[in-house]
Amino acid sequence: MSSKVIAIDGPAASGKSTAAAGVARALGIPYVNTGSLYRAVALLAGNELDPVPERVLSRLQLAYLRNADGEFELAIDGRFPGAVLRRPEIAAGASRVATQPAVRAALLELQRKMAENGWLVMEGRDIGTVVFPDAAFKFFITASPEERARRRLAQAGETPDGATLEEVAAEIRKRDEQDAGRAVAPLRPAPGAVLVDTTDLTAEAVKRRILNLVERSVCTTK
Ligand code: C5P
Repeated sequence: MSSKVIAIDGPAASGKSTAAAGVARALGIPYVNTGSLYRAVALLAGNELDPVPERVLSRLQLAYLRNADGEFELAIDGRFPGAVLRRPEIAAGASRVATQPAVRAALLELQRKMAENGWLVMEGRDIGTVVFPDAAFKFFITASPEERARRRLAQAGETPDGATLEEVAAEIRKRDEQDAGRAVAPLRPAPGAVLVDTTDLTAEAVKRRILNLVERSVCTTK
């Protein structure tokens, strides 16, 4: 039997978080953003005297807990780190620590556990390929590099102050190359994944496209 998971993968700023959160809300099921895990490791490694990411992980507890809005959010030792995880230097650090096989292995179990209690939407880079190769539904969300840079620039706090479109585009390109070029769990569409190019689509249209494919299965087996 397949896992009751709607896997949504894709590159940075492709619109996958918006789509994943919107689909989960419409279906009344949890949404899990796995990028937070790698961002948390980057944050913790940056704060430590002993910055070896997998050793940092063995000292601190990462867990998805319900926040004040009732949504799953990543907590470090029981506390929500909040907006600090969205900072551009943390995003860049996350992409670096995510290349390390020991880090990925340490985070795998936590992600798999999340599906033990029924349907959920999980978003990341390797959800359909590695974390849940047996996911019931797999989507790969993309958008043109220009559109992704525009969207990232519009997200307050996620780019350095005064950054230009060209600088943001270059940073996104670097992250894509690192995420798609790494040896372990590289970013790529899972076999059988439905590709959605969001360049010319509204967030609502992307959500509808996904819901059209999953709604009936989720609602009848919830
Ligand atoms: O999605 P987000 O931008 O928060 O992810 C930050 C970084 O974490 C990505 O650039 C990627 O290197 C890494 N990541 C990953 N696998 C995931 C989710 C995120 O390697 N499932």
